[in-house]
Amino acid sequence: MTGTQDTIFAVASGAGRAAIAVLRLSGPASQAMLAALCGRVPPPRRAALRRLRDAEGAELDQAMVLWLPGPGSYTGEDSSELFLHGGTAVIEGVADALVALGARPAEPGEFTRRAFLNGRMDLTEAEAVHDLVAAETAAQRRQALRQLDGALGAIYRGWAERLRTLLAQQEALIDFPDEDLPPDVEAAVLAELAALHREIVTHLDDDRRGERLREGLLFAITGPPNVGKSSLMNALAGRDVAIVSATPGTTRDALETRVVLGGVPVTLVDTAGLRQAADAIEAEGVRRARAHAAAADLVIAVTEAGQPATHDRADVLVANKLDLGGSVPEGAIGVSALAGEGLELLRGRLADAARALTQVSGPPALTRARHRAALLEAAARLAGAHGADLPELRAEDLRLALRSLGRITGMVGVEDILDTLFAQFCIGK
Ligand code: GDP
Repeated sequence: MTGTQDTIFAVASGAGRAAIAVLRLSGPASQAMLAALCGRVPPPRRAALRRLRDAEGAELDQAMVLWLPGPGSYTGEDSSELFLHGGTAVIEGVADALVALGARPAEPGEFTRRAFLNGRMDLTEAEAVHDLVAAETAAQRRQALRQLDGALGAIYRGWAERLRTLLAQQEALIDFPDEDLPPDVEAAVLAELAALHREIVTHLDDDRRGERLREGLLFAITGPPNVGKSSLMNALAGRDVAIVSATPGTTRDALETRVVLGGVPVTLVDTAGLRQAADAIEAEGVRRARAHAAAADLVIAVTEAGQPATHDRADVLVANKLDLGGSVPEGAIGVSALAGEGLELLRGRLADAARALTQVSGPPALTRARHRAALLEAAARLAGAHGADLPELRAEDLRLALRSLGRITGMVGVEDILDTLFAQFCIGK
């Protein structure tokens, strides 16, 4: 990572031709660079129309510009936003002029990284910025906005605060064993320890709802060859993504498509027919099908109406080819992928399942494996602290638990994860 004393810039709006391109600038030289580009710097946070020129005085654009002095800016530093005309030549002209003035292009996530380093947001909020940019559905947007508001970070900070108090009490027990501390301090420490442990374990026991909503769900379509899995996937996706063929075993690979069900992004995987493979390529397809089915949040098991169902796992059982007149087994949804019969009912059932798998009621849920790992570690340390025989060992476990909690919001020891975390961001965020 290059120095934070650099003044950085990036186009924050999307790629491709657009009427307006938003260029962000942040760092100590922002004001001077803005002045060099547009002459008079407008008053803070007031939009103004300016002619932008390079060092030779050549006109680059007429643009609306904003001067956003730190520390009250997004990054916490002096910054500026330029609303340029979207043409490539305009953007390149302004970028070249900025480089000539000593700015450099920002790395992915660098603006948000600076916001974090300058204490404008904690790590969970920085992650929420990423999630909000990536949000595909309203439910994802709600979750990201809540996290951006600091609701998730507040839970973790609250726990960390209580842990700090516990640690102070535990250290008092070590330092002044014979003095007249109130007799019940140790009992109080143990009770609070147990309560905290319980709260974290409850928070962890969420069936991965927050993570599932953030990442999207995986639904696998399984069943013997030729029952109509590809046809069903095409019908659910509303487009031809899978090859449909009358020859058994034609779907050799797992084909995927993204759909939105119940407000949740779902990847549908059409797995190769689970049967004895005729050749090596098909065998590989069958292997992947099994792997997908094992990893899936939900398995849509397909059979033909009138045929017995023989699936290992069937979260939703579908009897296809209803138009051929076969009977629908108990508990199955009868459909015809070709004629369209029953598909609305199936879609409704899948949407309900998608909602149920991701519904977060009550306090915000953790949204990343990173949070989960740190919380599991904290819970383990708390359990250790509760069972510790020696006061010093208990204090050490409490310190380690506090450290794990602190890593989630970025209060302590996170230098090692910052590069990985912010590299996932887009440039300009
Ligand atoms: P897969 O091997 O399970 O993926 O099955 P396909 O989707 O490739 O379909 C196998 C054959 O069954 C094709 O000839 C389809 O046209 C046919 N098929 C699929 N769905 C239906 C249906 O609802 N009714 C009828 N009559 N035929 C279907």
